[in-house]
Amino acid sequence: MAFRKPFDRLRGTRTITIKLPVDSEGFLDRQCASEECRGVFKVAEGSWKDHVKDEVVFCPFCRHQDKAEEWNTEEQNRYVRRKAKELVEREVHGMLKEWAKDFNSTQRSGGLISMSMSVKPQVNSWVFPARFAEAMKQKIACEACGCVFASIGAAYFCPACGHNSVLRTFSETLKTIRGTLAAISALSAAIGDGDKDHAVDVARLLVEQSLVRVVGGFERFSEARFQQVSGGSEFKRGAFQRLGDASDLWEKIGRRRYDQVLSSSDMAFLGKMLQKRHLLAHREGVVDSDYLKKTNDPSIAVGQRIRLKEADVIRVCELLEVLARELGK
Ligand SMILES: [Zn+2]
Ligand SMILES: [Zn+2]
Repeated sequence: MAFRKPFDRLRGTRTITIKLPVDSEGFLDRQCASEECRGVFKVAEGSWKDHVKDEVVFCPFCRHQDKAEEWNTEEQNRYVRRKAKELVEREVHGMLKEWAKDFNSTQRSGGLISMSMSVKPQVNSWVFPARFAEAMKQKIACEACGCVFASIGAAYFCPACGHNSVLRTFSETLKTIRGTLAAISALSAAIGDGDKDHAVDVARLLVEQSLVRVVGGFERFSEARFQQVSGGSEFKRGAFQRLGDASDLWEKIGRRRYDQVLSSSDMAFLGKMLQKRHLLAHREGVVDSDYLKKTNDPSIAVGQRIRLKEADVIRVCELLEVLARELGK
């Protein structure tokens, strides 16, 4: 048939290489492919080429493993889609010109070219406005393989080799989170000049994200430390998110329970904060009956969004630091 020839060019698959933009320091934005994490970090472009393998990349926050092509941010996916569409359209346009006669133009929007690209949902994820991200970025060179990466907040696993530096970096995490919290008022004042609502949003997100990061960091730290101290004993996934379960595990290997280290009011406060983190990570911060049952929090009702004060997160950092010091003994 007459139309065979031009169609052939679209048969099979072809790889188009689209170069992603890097930031002013040559770092490439990356986002964890795990829908629960969606953590945003950066990798030096050279390290991404030289150290990272195509088959597996590790998330610095949760150690999720995925192929190298799965780490685009939403913005990069949009960029790739736009560029790919431009390329395809240019090509199709050329073909249409070549084969102008009798072509049914409706095919252009019909099934002729379909692009499929998986777009992951934005679960509790947000991308820092770039200028703030710059201010809070922590650069890390992997002590095992030399890959250079950067993140906002707690990053433990090397994206290239998965090396775990959690024991060394939990104190750095606390430092970064404290720095972030301390910068909030200055940052929101800076945005506030133009857009007050946006400034409030950014401040809220920074506080919430700080809680998620510090608790996640402590969980990773606890897991690694427990493995080290116990000589590789088993534990259930998520056990170190729960004060009671974690205490049981430590007690079993002859260490102090958390309630022997912290006062009962500090334990209650920390327990409530862990529940808030759970809501932020899994329910977009909206209170459910489970939260009320576990916390007896009289200040809020089902369906409301939790409120989190900067001072609360600062206190969480202090308490987790006390626990981490105990666990480090
Ligand atoms: Zn992750
Ligand atoms: Zn490494």
